[in-house]
Amino acid sequence: MGTTTDLGKINLTTTLEQVLVRGYATREEAYQLIKVQGTNLLELMKAASVIRDEGKGNTVTYSRKVFIPLTNMCRNTCGYCTFVKDPDHPEAHIMSPDEVYSQLVKAEDMGCKEVLVSLGERPELRYPLAKEGLKKLGYSKMLDYIYDICNLIIDKTTMIPHTNAGSLKYEEMKKLKDVNGSMGMMLESINPNLDAHRGCPDKIPLVRLNTIRYAGELKIPFTTGILIGIGESLEDRVDSMFAILDQHKEYGYVQEIIVQNFRAKADTSMAAWPEPTIWDMVRSIAVCRLIFGKEMNIQAPPNLTPQIHQLFLLAGINDWGGISPLTPDFINPEKPWPHIQQLNKACSELGFELRERLTIYPEYLNDLTYEQTIFQSRIDPLVDNSRLVRREMTIC
Ligand code: SF4
Repeated sequence: MGTTTDLGKINLTTTLEQVLVRGYATREEAYQLIKVQGTNLLELMKAASVIRDEGKGNTVTYSRKVFIPLTNMCRNTCGYCTFVKDPDHPEAHIMSPDEVYSQLVKAEDMGCKEVLVSLGERPELRYPLAKEGLKKLGYSKMLDYIYDICNLIIDKTTMIPHTNAGSLKYEEMKKLKDVNGSMGMMLESINPNLDAHRGCPDKIPLVRLNTIRYAGELKIPFTTGILIGIGESLEDRVDSMFAILDQHKEYGYVQEIIVQNFRAKADTSMAAWPEPTIWDMVRSIAVCRLIFGKEMNIQAPPNLTPQIHQLFLLAGINDWGGISPLTPDFINPEKPWPHIQQLNKACSELGFELRERLTIYPEYLNDLTYEQTIFQSRIDPLVDNSRLVRREMTIC
């Protein structure tokens, strides 16, 4: 006899059987499934694991990357952010090409294959000081500077750029496509009324959904995801996942969904805000897997909730995202990346094999557009038949 969820609204076992036969959960089912508690959570995790195994087998991936925080100035003021600095703060900065280059040299020596160019959004539109800093480098728009930095990466290294510049317009994405293997931007939440995003023009959900759509229209492999625990309801969380799914169904090219947990940081307006629990993460990851089905790559950052990597595996992830041997997670600098050996051990104890991937997921490597064929000659020597990095080229 099937158990019922805590809300008693659905028969959990029957619902999960239907989800498994169908291969995905409906929105109504997801609204209920994301609320399960107690031992019902184990049933949820099992269903998510079964679907993940069907699509991904026992392979779990990560990307060896270097993080280039091109500028920590931003026109938004998210309530949880410690990365951002006001332009008159002594640490406010735009990296010069020389600073970027010196990191690239070290990263390449350490075997990185992805350069994550990540930065605050359009600071030059809000702050004269940011505009001035950019002008000293010879630019009036941050976008043009990003473009040239990506070209520097392509010209001087064998690594592949992945830019996350937040919400972008179609023409901006089109320009960056020529110099990026893949790109990314978190949706975070579909709820437009979160205090965490008050006064943040780039965090308007419609604006961010447009960016995801442009990526699909332009055929740019794209990484996006949700940030949980910033004041959204459980239904918002489900709706955020479906908003991404709708874009993906229509345009394709969402290569990866990140389920990221909010971490409270001192010196922010959300310093005292409660963090999501481990179980909140687990049920969100599991429901994400059930919504997106077996093909999607689902990631949880391994540094934000250390010590419980295996729980996330059992909840249905198949990727750990980018891990850097060189640079910290600048968004969460207090949370060091785990050693790859540690992750390897956590994976192999459960029968998974940890493999290195490139910033472009294997599914999209055979499908590069004309503009991206510049990357083909650097991809081919790195990957094997599974389109993952050759085992002999992976550094642990
Ligand atoms: S989280 Fe991103 S968009 Fe928000 S303030 Fe920080 S850098 Fe800007």
